[in-house]
Amino acid sequence: MTTQPQTAWPENTVARYLTVGGATVDITHDTRYASDTQPNISHAQCNGCPAYTNSGWSAYADRWDNGSAGADSAACAWAQTHAETCRALPKPA
Ligand SMILES: [Zn+2]
Repeated sequence: MTTQPQTAWPENTVARYLTVGGATVDITHDTRYASDTQPNISHAQCNGCPAYTNSGWSAYADRWDNGSAGADSAACAWAQTHAETCRALPKPA
């Protein structure tokens, strides 16, 4: 097994998955609408192909996690599944 060189993660990245194709799937906290002032979704984006998913945070904004924990696990579960099957290569920079 080869090791992935450690590179800096983009800001707001909370989790990262390595796909079988060598790309990454990043989980970030983002806003649903441009007018939102606080993060309210967990966004999973594959950097090898256009696939992504958004999980909205629960409405309990006063919770310890701002409602993000459930959305994070949903986004991570999607990322894990996608990473196991995606063979798209990241575009060279
Ligand atoms: Zn992909």
